[in-house]
Amino acid sequence: MTKKRTRAKCLGQWVDIQHCDLSEEGLLGDCDPSKRIIRIEVTLEGAEYKRIEAHEFAHMKMALSGLVEMMSPELEEALAVLAESK
Ligand SMILES: [Zn+2]
Repeated sequence: MTKKRTRAKCLGQWVDIQHCDLSEEGLLGDCDPSKRIIRIEVTLEGAEYKRIEAHEFAHMKMALSGLVEMMSPELEEALAVLAESK
């Protein structure tokens, strides 16, 4: 079983990590910076889980730091994909 945190610090702020059925929404994860909530598809395990977790935390870091204000959505997504990669 993959160890799944339900809270984690991100740039000094607590973020809740919720494990949800996102299949209806067609997502593996998402990030709501205003609520400090990351959601991850509940069925994910192992390397796939870690990949999505890293991706959504990258979005959270870019939002909480204000970096998203300086970039296009395309660049933000490209950097989140970069952060997934080992
Ligand atoms: Zn993304």
